[in-house]
Amino acid sequence: MVLVVGGGPSGLLSSYHLCKMGVDVTLLEEDSTIGENPHCGGLVSADFWGKLGVTPRHDVVLNHINGFELHIGSKSVHLLSRAPCALVISRSLFDKYLYELAKDAGSKVLLGLRAERIRAGGQGVEVKLADNSFFKEDVVVLAEGLSRLLTLQVGGRPNGKALPSFQALVRGRGFDPRVAQVFLRGEMAPYYFAYFIPISEDAGRLGVISNKADPSKVCEKIMRTLGFAQVKRYKKWGVWLHGPIKHPSARGVLLVGDAGGFTKPLTGGGVVWGGVSARIAAEAICHSSSQDLLENYLSLSRRTFWLEARAQALFRRLLLGPSSYKVLNLLFEGKGSAQNILGEIDYDFPFSRSLPPFRCLTGKELLK
Ligand SMILES: Cc1cc2nc3c(=O)[nH]c(=O)nc-3n(C[C@H](O)[C@H](O)[C@H](O)COP(=O)(O)OP(=O)(O)OC[C@H]3O[C@@H](n4cnc5c(N)ncnc54)[C@H](O)[C@@H]3O)c2cc1C
Repeated sequence: MVLVVGGGPSGLLSSYHLCKMGVDVTLLEEDSTIGENPHCGGLVSADFWGKLGVTPRHDVVLNHINGFELHIGSKSVHLLSRAPCALVISRSLFDKYLYELAKDAGSKVLLGLRAERIRAGGQGVEVKLADNSFFKEDVVVLAEGLSRLLTLQVGGRPNGKALPSFQALVRGRGFDPRVAQVFLRGEMAPYYFAYFIPISEDAGRLGVISNKADPSKVCEKIMRTLGFAQVKRYKKWGVWLHGPIKHPSARGVLLVGDAGGFTKPLTGGGVVWGGVSARIAAEAICHSSSQDLLENYLSLSRRTFWLEARAQALFRRLLLGPSSYKVLNLLFEGKGSAQNILGEIDYDFPFSRSLPPFRCLTGKELLK
């Protein structure tokens, strides 16, 4: 029996994959509904369904993205590919779909229950709720996102702070609905970046990630500059850019998703990285004894994420440096090469999987 804490994509995918492998799972989610709080751009790689190991559901996808416009201060780099290289999903529909999948696979999902305390050691892991009732299980998967309440209690050590972020749904005209825009540097992006992700011909998600200025104020400024009207604001949140955190050594506790720092250090995108960490956790739980579970999970996740996280963090520094425009132009010079590169890039693991010498295997392949 496994207890999963958190009903975001990482927790739901952990539950789904564990149930598919014949494990009894209970999932706790503090909100009374799933998918009602989606502070997310929803931009994912075109092959994300395969990476998450779930059957595609097409109404979850709102838009196809064929390229990017990178604005670096006053200069721009345009990258366009023939085939869609990324998708924009409705996080609300996506989370609800994963909820259905997890339940259909046999997971028990308890909504409106907040885990308050965790104690590991001795016989099993104990998780206490607000009303003092508790669960005691051999394995607890923490998928509580950036709140990390339980993660910190068992000794998880974040290696930095989340960057404040803000996102709004906006309406406007005059943009190419196939092209996502990224702003780096300058007034539009005072450390780290801002984005516009079109979801239709006349609407999109405008977001700012910044620890130098109030991201909601910067967002309003961009709205005015681009002539967008605000339709809906999401609550301020955080984005994690520091890669996997120091995992607790408590036996029987595994961190997945944002809780474990499984987001891309280049963009903070965590839907796919979190989902891959959830898959790896499920594989490790099913194929390990209680003695070697933690070691197996850590070794698999290190092999999948470590090199990529380092490379992305380095590339981020390059992007923020004075030569970023030159570097991007060099990388993508000429329309033809940009199209080729865009078509071949693995957007989740661009360094470790797109560049042949560094190719890594997924957790499943490694376990075999
Ligand atoms: C502004 C913004 C834009 C983003 N854009 C993108 C993007 O375009 N593409 C992308 O891939 N990623 C994006 N991300 C990141 C992405 O949203 C996260 O990486 C992803 O949601 C992580 O999923 P998760 O399941 O690990 O955590 P979460 O989605 O945070 O889910 C955690 C769940 O745990 C529950 N919970 C927390 N504590 C407890 C507790 N004590 N007891 C019970 N339940 C609890 C919460 O209610 C929540 O439902 C963005 C993030 C932000 C903030």
